[in-house]
Amino acid sequence: MTIFEKIIAREIPADIVFEDDQCLAFRDIHPQAPVHVLLVPKRVIPRLGVCTWDDATLLGHLLVKAGELATMLGLAESGFRIVINHGANGGETVPHLHLHILGGRALTWPPG
Ligand code: 5GP
Repeated sequence: MTIFEKIIAREIPADIVFEDDQCLAFRDIHPQAPVHVLLVPKRVIPRLGVCTWDDATLLGHLLVKAGELATMLGLAESGFRIVINHGANGGETVPHLHLHILGGRALTWPPG
């Protein structure tokens, strides 16, 4: 069971900002920006690159919800970034698909 599954199951605490039947959003424990929220599907998918077209509806749900959450978190006007890390070079550390919602400061490009 990954740390995110434990958060979904309420086995460990998290600062939850949103939940519906398909996903959960909570604040990152090591925020990289003033606003740093993780959005995870409740169904376990390890990472983006193993998704199939069977996951398309859920992926669409997550992306639309990420935009809604960014707005809800007050980031729509100032701007925000959605990040999905895949594998070692991508910086993935938790093998449960998650979208980072980052904002509240000017984010640099290219990423480090
Ligand atoms: P990744 O590096 O896999 O893209 O992102 C994993 C994220 O999960 C990291 O930003 C990390 O800070 C966050 N994280 C790891 N463990 C916990 C935890 O127990 N609680 C919360 N809220 N975030 C966590």
